[in-house]
Amino acid sequence: MIWDIQKECMDREELSQLQLERLQSTIHRVYRNVPFYRRVFDKNGIDPDGFGSLEDISKIPFTTKADLRENYPYGLFAVPLREVVRIHTSSGTTGMPIVVGYTKNDLKIWTELVARVLTSGGITKDDVIQIAFNYGLFTGAFGFHYGAEKIGASVIPVSIENPKKQIKILQDYKTTALISTPSYALLIANTLIEMGINPNSLYLKFGLFGAEPWSERMRQEIEEKLKITATDNYGLSEIMGPGVAGECLQKKGLHIQEDHFYFEIIDPQTLQPVKEGEVGELVITTLTKEAFPVLRFRTGDLTRFISGECACGRTFRRIDRIMGRTDDMIIIRGLKIFPSQIEAILHEIQGRQPNYQIVLERNEGIDQITIMLEITEEIFSDMMKEQTQLISKIKERIASELGLPINIKLVEKRSFEKRGEKIKRVIDIR
Ligand SMILES: [Zn+2]
Repeated sequence: MIWDIQKECMDREELSQLQLERLQSTIHRVYRNVPFYRRVFDKNGIDPDGFGSLEDISKIPFTTKADLRENYPYGLFAVPLREVVRIHTSSGTTGMPIVVGYTKNDLKIWTELVARVLTSGGITKDDVIQIAFNYGLFTGAFGFHYGAEKIGASVIPVSIENPKKQIKILQDYKTTALISTPSYALLIANTLIEMGINPNSLYLKFGLFGAEPWSERMRQEIEEKLKITATDNYGLSEIMGPGVAGECLQKKGLHIQEDHFYFEIIDPQTLQPVKEGEVGELVITTLTKEAFPVLRFRTGDLTRFISGECACGRTFRRIDRIMGRTDDMIIIRGLKIFPSQIEAILHEIQGRQPNYQIVLERNEGIDQITIMLEITEEIFSDMMKEQTQLISKIKERIASELGLPINIKLVEKRSFEKRGEKIKRVIDIR
């Protein structure tokens, strides 16, 4: 079987040699076929033959989202369009989308890597998989779809539907694994509770969740409410889609697919590599992509390398869950804060996954931070006292842990609900 775990157990030296050979061939291909990269190399006096070790990769300037956007739609394709068999776009929230293409071989590798992620999350050919990602231009649904078929599992391509319909399918079709964003899984779980359905009456065993940052507390909440084992996975359209990294059942970080990608973590401000184990921005170079190879792509996602061996036996390194986006990093009154820190406090006080938005404003030259927090109908409707207590509790905790005065505005339930899409956590109108 090609998704055999053996493929993820390579001797480090052997792996480095493979990565170097694949890097050299990628560099030659982009230099030959992608005018953007040829210009970058020529302008910086980089010799495509001058890559004798993996460390030489630091000679190459980073590729940014803006570079990708400026080459809309096909400017960065490294093969003629007749060799491209699939087109997707990235789920960019602003401006032009980024168009990505796949050759036949790209699709084959993508399918294999997703099959690996599914297998490490506990999925086998006996599973019935409900895919609750939007089928369309985005990569999530199609990536998982083909990976699951490769394993031989039964795939139900539900796409995004209202949670009640998802639940009906979970019940009637005897779904054993759910694939979605974590926030959508939680919405399904909460709807299940509202409908008075016992989760033990479902057949669900596994949940593979990704496409947005989530916390350990949120994992516990989903696992308890749905009675499943939930794992995290990571991918992005600019690199491939899902399948770039995934947690095994140890749930101690996401194994990265090092035979097909080269991973670095840098300080987003100095652009230098961070020390081992420190949090920084994930940078990825594709090593085998044919249609849309990228060199040192700045993902904007914050994580860290996890050192040591994993008990599952895979030797590929692990990264921690994505902690947020570099552009979500809030710099306010000289302090650096991540939404995930605020989220953890809200979760603890409310005892459940908070739904919230952070609004940054400038008032008479002073930066103000306001948390718009969704609350239950009961608290919202009449109980002034509960509302006041909740507000002062959150204010105190955030002031003491983050050293920052904040405003809180309570809003009605499901104000930010976006049908399984990503919720924008930070609105900066300064
Ligand atoms: Zn593992």
